[in-house]
Amino acid sequence: MTFDPTPAFAAHLDAQDPLRDFRSRFLIPPAPGGGESLYLCGNSLGLQPRAVRAALDQELNTWAELAVDGHFDGPSPWMHYHETLAETAALVVGAKPIEVVVMNNLTTNLHLLLTTFYRPTPTRYKVLMEGGAFPSDQYALETQVKLHGLELDDAIVELVPRPGEHTLRTEDIEAKIAELGDSLATILMGGINYYTGQVFDMATITQAGHAVGATVGFDLAHAAGNVELHLHDWDVDFACWCTYKYMNSGPGSVGGAFVHERFAHRPDLLRLAGWWGHDADERFKMQKGFKPMAGAAGWQLANGNILTLAAHRAALALFAEVGGMGPLRRKSEQLTAYLEFLIHRLELPASRLEIITPTDPAARGCQLSLLVHQGGRELFDHLTQAGVVGDWREPNVIRLAPVPFYNSFADVQRVGEVLAAWAAQ
Ligand SMILES: *Cc1c(COP(=O)(O)O)cnc(C)c1O
Repeated sequence: MTFDPTPAFAAHLDAQDPLRDFRSRFLIPPAPGGGESLYLCGNSLGLQPRAVRAALDQELNTWAELAVDGHFDGPSPWMHYHETLAETAALVVGAKPIEVVVMNNLTTNLHLLLTTFYRPTPTRYKVLMEGGAFPSDQYALETQVKLHGLELDDAIVELVPRPGEHTLRTEDIEAKIAELGDSLATILMGGINYYTGQVFDMATITQAGHAVGATVGFDLAHAAGNVELHLHDWDVDFACWCTYKYMNSGPGSVGGAFVHERFAHRPDLLRLAGWWGHDADERFKMQKGFKPMAGAAGWQLANGNILTLAAHRAALALFAEVGGMGPLRRKSEQLTAYLEFLIHRLELPASRLEIITPTDPAARGCQLSLLVHQGGRELFDHLTQAGVVGDWREPNVIRLAPVPFYNSFADVQRVGEVLAAWAAQ
């Protein structure tokens, strides 16, 4: 498609957009100077679906009116509440319902899954991850390695881009996996790197990991609800995600976890257990001896946080209504390509600003990461004053993520104008 920077062109794309009515299902925050903000920060916190308030009210009412009986009575008994989310969550990540559970938070789930899937032996003990991964992933892995009494520098292997490049090449990842061979216990990578916005080739990485006998897991914080995932078909062993970024489920909302169907009936797999992972039929017998539920549900610890589950369920319902990730992704590729076009039009030298996110649509999601070599903070302040909400990542990256659920082409066009005003200074 040939793009054009005018408001009329953006209006034309919006008129043709089959998802355009979904914007009104979200609350767009006001801009400081009046009107709606240009919110390109769904990579950090997705906007609030209007339906969330009623969903929370329903549970508050059940609590008020039924109190403890709300576990078994009322419009959606709390005892089984989490089970009602598995199907739609599975749709978003390309899994079977038995492979998915909604629980805890991302980092907690990462620890739980590493406890099961990172089982080092004296010869096979290394973990491969991307260099510059999100700090929580680094800390989780460091402490898991220490828990096994291993040396960090010896056990953790980081992938770094070639000199002069910002992103990883799949062939280099494959080569490193082959090189580590029998010493590689586990691969843990982001599905999308939070800083560069690069989508990793999860199918190829999983295959390469399995070929050397390693377990393979992904942190999907930036991938879930952003790009199409096929965790089951890709044969990924485990994955976890948060739901407050592209899944619009509210700050600190409940996380998700995936365990491949191959492990669904493996009660022998070591795990950290709690009563909510215990066989539901016997849970209230309160007896000794942990007997895990089949599937990912067998990794649950505690009874669910109903208020965040309610927010997540309302947000997930929109993913079912829109028809899954396919329609979202088609619009997303266009929105992000339009933003990229408007940035390229600034004709800034790479010594001043470069987009470090891959240009290949298959290797990125919504987000573009702008590496600003000169005056990054000033640009960020300029954007903020103009009502553009993006985010700043040290040392000098601005992340902008147009989200297909609620951003319009007009939003992106206006952000282009704000950037052009800065570039002309
Ligand atoms: C956002 C994000 C997290 C946050 O973890 P929480 O446990 O939800 O606080 C972790 N890892 C990555 C890669 C993220 O992008």
